[in-house]
Amino acid sequence: MVRKTRPKQEDAPREDARNLNLTPRLQTAEGGDEAQLRPATLAEFIGQKQIKENLQVYIEAAKQRKDSLDHVFFSGPPGLGKTTLSYIISRELGVHFRGTSGPAIERPGDMVSILSKLNDRDVLFIDEIHRLSPTVEEVLYPAMEDFRVDLVIGQGPTARTLQFPLKPFTLIGATTRVGLLSPPLRDRFGVINRLESYTQDELMEIVLRASRILAIPIEPEGARELAKRSRGTPRIANRLLRRVRDFAQVKADGIVTLSLACSALDRLEIDGCGFDAMDRQFLNMLVHKFGGGPVGVGTLAAAMSEERDTLEDVCEPFLLQNGYLERTPRGRQATPLAYRYLGLPVPTRIPPPESGSPRIKQEPLW
Ligand code: ADP
Repeated sequence: MVRKTRPKQEDAPREDARNLNLTPRLQTAEGGDEAQLRPATLAEFIGQKQIKENLQVYIEAAKQRKDSLDHVFFSGPPGLGKTTLSYIISRELGVHFRGTSGPAIERPGDMVSILSKLNDRDVLFIDEIHRLSPTVEEVLYPAMEDFRVDLVIGQGPTARTLQFPLKPFTLIGATTRVGLLSPPLRDRFGVINRLESYTQDELMEIVLRASRILAIPIEPEGARELAKRSRGTPRIANRLLRRVRDFAQVKADGIVTLSLACSALDRLEIDGCGFDAMDRQFLNMLVHKFGGGPVGVGTLAAAMSEERDTLEDVCEPFLLQNGYLERTPRGRQATPLAYRYLGLPVPTRIPPPESGSPRIKQEPLW
């Protein structure tokens, strides 16, 4: 049953967020340096220009109408700023932010409970929304469309449906796997955004901003090198900056110069392309053990003793985007670029993509 209790109006947004089933990632992301580095306004958020400009308009329009913002959907690989943008939206709207994640909401009753506690125009952020169970998802449909929940009381012929109104709210859903989201849920979002990898210039700006906040002395060339090896991802840029700071502090005079950045990143086994040990293992396994493919990602994951999700979420987007990997109907295939990266001759049997080999229509990964 829906409880009529409402959270106290005077609760601070951060406290509200902690009271819900927050994902561990969200909780840890709010601790230490991370919380300091998370941009708090659209103006502070670097990159994703088009998305920011559009959001600015939608937020302003909703505020002028004193209406809730339409439901927003973010997709993109981990660390690109989906959670950050969701925080920012709630702040710019001046409403509470409530965060949870798909796997944390196990039963339809949990979803009803979360929805019924929302205040007028609040933001409900659901990370990994593709992992909601179908029964939980069904609670969301009338909630998103008509701000109501339908509860079925009883069973069989005597079953009745009771409807409870909800306060207007904004659902923000985030996923790394747009392909796994059910079409009925996807269709209920009014604002759909796909976050793209960041350019080197944007990442350099992010590194310089983080250095200022954390008071890390850094030379522009050092910042550029970090940006170059951050595989298009702000979270990685910030993480590398913190590790390089440690080397600068202990092994040098504290200043992140180009040569310090290069030697520290080499010790972290991040190469000039931004590849880490897992990327190299992936390509080595694909080429040496499976003859360059095609091979299923599950088989690759088992051979590497890695989670299939980790390969699909973290490793593959970067390799696919940069042309080292291809997805074919029969599995993953190394491209000529992958062979060149590994210092191997390109086998003549690899057909170039345009030669008419049967390729599947590439479903977007995010
Ligand atoms: P996601 O939810 O997509 O996994 P997050 O929003 O948690 O990513 O972002 C990870 C970290 O990267 C944040 O804590 C923030 O410090 C940083 N970050 C993300 N996007 C930006 C950006 N555009 N500008 C500056 N820092 C950013």
